Amino acid sequence: MKKFIPLSVPNLKGKELEYITHAVETEWVSTGGPYVNEFEEKIAEYVKAKGAVSCQNGTSGLHIALLVSGIIFGDEVIVPTLTFIAAVNPVKYIGAEPIFMDCDDSLTMDADKLLEFCETECSFIKGQLINGQSKKWIKAVLVVHVFGNMTDMEKIMAVADRFNLKVIEDATEAIGTYFTEGKYNGKYAGTIGTIGVYSFNGNKIITTGGGGMIVSDDEELLKKAKHLITQAKSDELFYTHDEIGYNYRMTNLQAAMGLAQLEQLEDFIKIKEINYKLYKEKIEEIPGLSIMNFNNNIRANYWFYALKCDNEYPLNRDEIIHYLTSKNIQSRPIWGLISEQKPYKNCQTYKIEKAKYYLDHVVNIPCSTNLLKKDLLYVIECLKDPC
Ligand SMILES: *Cc1c(COP(=O)(O)O)cnc(C)c1O
Repeated sequence: MKKFIPLSVPNLKGKELEYITHAVETEWVSTGGPYVNEFEEKIAEYVKAKGAVSCQNGTSGLHIALLVSGIIFGDEVIVPTLTFIAAVNPVKYIGAEPIFMDCDDSLTMDADKLLEFCETECSFIKGQLINGQSKKWIKAVLVVHVFGNMTDMEKIMAVADRFNLKVIEDATEAIGTYFTEGKYNGKYAGTIGTIGVYSFNGNKIITTGGGGMIVSDDEELLKKAKHLITQAKSDELFYTHDEIGYNYRMTNLQAAMGLAQLEQLEDFIKIKEINYKLYKEKIEEIPGLSIMNFNNNIRANYWFYALKCDNEYPLNRDEIIHYLTSKNIQSRPIWGLISEQKPYKNCQTYKIEKAKYYLDHVVNIPCSTNLLKKDLLYVIECLKDPC
């Protein structure tokens, strides 16, 4: 049997052990310690944001990002339906309601449909976008930079400016992606909207085991975020608390690992790009298969590869996954649409069409940075003649 080829696993061949050992030896293992601040500074510097606040994971980061953006119980937030459910659950933690939007061919939120929805289904009264159906205030749009691709932020920001929406960027999959032209040339995913969030979960491009980071250019928001993730303690000595906070702070152990990973991020992106191009070149010779593009106005981080199959290929999505499993290759469909999941199936949606198509036709294939060329060629060979 061929060795197992996993979908996406960590690559820990840098200074991870050295930094973590130092954290253990100095006995700074909890939420205090020098690595936490250093990791925050280095991330902010890397993505050219004014500041960064670390947290336990991407999900808690999104929860805090929504809170400090002023989303409260009863508000509404426009979200994509084609994403991981962790992008949307925090809206519900707050008691706000999601409205689900379709994707475009980049797999990220369709900005044209967003505009159309705001213009035709809502009214804009005294600076508030009011949902015609629920009569509630839509306060924000939450976009997800799916697989390391970039949402059309120029259009999203124009809609947000016009209708007074906060923009929360779920950049959990897209650290390292930035625009190479246009209005936001040089701007990193996560740093364009009101606030952005990264994840360092084990399957992301860099990992701290579990971890997250909030970034923004608004220092007031970052201060509030830091306050909320550290139990909203307003006096260190006397333990006074001025609101309900959370225990979401990252530990020094996680940050030690994060620093070592961040040192390798640009190398990881280079490897991912090379592997992406190899897959793309070889797989597009196979009738009925293609590898989906990253937008051409960005430097992508090439986090996840999306294999698209059409009817010309002898296997459908599920058959491809089962077939690859039989060859000891891990793959998976994109996420089930959030608007069709049990907790969300009664929520409002707007013209969900493309998301359904892509859900039925896309499979993610192995993309780890420690894949060998022969592993990639094996995956390609298997796809070339499915038996
Ligand atoms: C990974 C991920 C999250 C959650 O991040 P965690 O660190 O696992 O909590 C949220 N949104 C998307 C799109 C993700 O891929």
